[in-house]
Amino acid sequence: MTQEELFKKLIAHCKEYGFIFPSSEIYDGLSAVYDYGQLGVELKNNIKTYWWDSMTKLHDNIVGIDAAIFMHPKVWEASGHVGAFNDPLIDNKDSKKRYRADVLIEEWIAKQDEKIEKECAKAAKRFGESFNKEMFVQTNGRVLEIAARRDEVNRRMAEALNANDLVELRQIILDCEIVCPISGSRNWTEVRQFNLMFSTQMGSVAEGANTVYLRPETAQGIFVNFLNVQKTGRMKIPFGIAQIGKAFRNEIVARQFIFRMREFEQMEMQFFVRPGEEMEWWKRWKETRMSWHRALGFGDDKYRFHDHEKLAHYANAATDVEFNFPFGFKEVEGIHSRTDFDLGRHQQFSGKKIQYFDPETGESYVPYVVETSIGVDRMVLQVLSAAYKEEQLENGETRTVLSIPAPLAPVKVAVLPLVKKDGLQEIAMDLVHKLKFDHNVQYDEKDSIGKRYRRQDAIGTPFCVTVDHQTKEDGTVTIRERDTMKQWRVSIDELESIVADKVGMRQLFEKLV
Ligand code: ATP
Repeated sequence: MTQEELFKKLIAHCKEYGFIFPSSEIYDGLSAVYDYGQLGVELKNNIKTYWWDSMTKLHDNIVGIDAAIFMHPKVWEASGHVGAFNDPLIDNKDSKKRYRADVLIEEWIAKQDEKIEKECAKAAKRFGESFNKEMFVQTNGRVLEIAARRDEVNRRMAEALNANDLVELRQIILDCEIVCPISGSRNWTEVRQFNLMFSTQMGSVAEGANTVYLRPETAQGIFVNFLNVQKTGRMKIPFGIAQIGKAFRNEIVARQFIFRMREFEQMEMQFFVRPGEEMEWWKRWKETRMSWHRALGFGDDKYRFHDHEKLAHYANAATDVEFNFPFGFKEVEGIHSRTDFDLGRHQQFSGKKIQYFDPETGESYVPYVVETSIGVDRMVLQVLSAAYKEEQLENGETRTVLSIPAPLAPVKVAVLPLVKKDGLQEIAMDLVHKLKFDHNVQYDEKDSIGKRYRRQDAIGTPFCVTVDHQTKEDGTVTIRERDTMKQWRVSIDELESIVADKVGMRQLFEKLV
């Protein structure tokens, strides 16, 4: 199965089992907007808890807030979003499709990396055991030529984006002979800037309504509350403020399912530090955040850092955590050193002093900020794409299983009476009532036990518990583990603690401290 096929199957699976639906589907959907179904919302909530608790419980100097989506319009002038939250877009005149100019170039760059990998694979075949990839990449003429061209284009793009040089961006697309994937032609329009913020009106038009924006990031809600939280929480630098909430961007190219949506959710933490100490904190947060991802156990090779060549107007260092999605390595999280830009600008635009008096140094200053910013939906996609598997079983059947880490799984335990008689249902229901105070539990008595196991595998339930006739005699049940399909008997009394140990967030948190 190719990665593309796998991705299509995953999307269909998400719909079939109630994880994710297209928005307003009965009206044919709304582009790049999705709804979470009964299982999707549980997975998403568990991801949010994993993030929230790892920030606020595991760090005694991080607290959370929940700011409103609407903010004073001046916030977005101060932050630079009104003037500069733009994407450069370009249209293909033949297909009438619209693209982000920088994304077209980035995809071209990624193709050069693929070409180099192909050259390496060919050479590895030719040289066999004696092949030294590092040496080959440094000396082979063809590889050096591709790499030099790639680096040159990368440099030109970074410069053009920094200088907002749209003519040069178009020229790069022409020079690289990039074609539209739909029409195959190079018939491109000029490159234009497009602001990504959604706006609406607050108050009645008769009164002279104000234009307000749907926030394109949650970070600004934290910055404008810096003094409130610092003072009321008696916070001492270094400290952080965390927030989870919706953000909205009028993305030009919205595709790849929930990877790029117009309404999405972010989990952001702004960490306030002394000026001059930001680089050290930025490095620490890079490591901390990478450990958080890796603790999920999908494999360390699924992640990499991508340090930015082009820095946003506010940043002096930036990296992305990229995950290997079915469509390649892509950003799930950004870790940015934002300097004193945001607080400084709010100080300037609001006319209010936003400073911190440092009792240790006896000085007042505008704190520097290190931000970690991750998309909830991209995390959901990360978990689902790493977890989705089709397995060939020994009896020749295949099973679809979602190997979601147990603490994140939507349903933790399924309780299944072997047959619908002899009092087994009642015992099973008693068990459900016992477990439901702590866990999300499903009861299922329909179809054969094999079919019921498959249904639970498909939604990622880590444990199935079967009540049978022996249960009546000795108070034991069969517990079946999702990934290994191993089954063993345990007493009902032990069951609660066995399940709790395996599905609790604690096991993830213990890897982080
Ligand atoms: P991209 O380059 O993919 O557009 P970005 O660099 O603009 O992302 P940030 O502004 O750094 O993203 O936002 C932080 C995080 O928010 C991203 O790492 C991503 O996980 C998430 N995010 C941003 N835009 C979207 C979107 N349109 N849909 C879903 N998640 C998003």
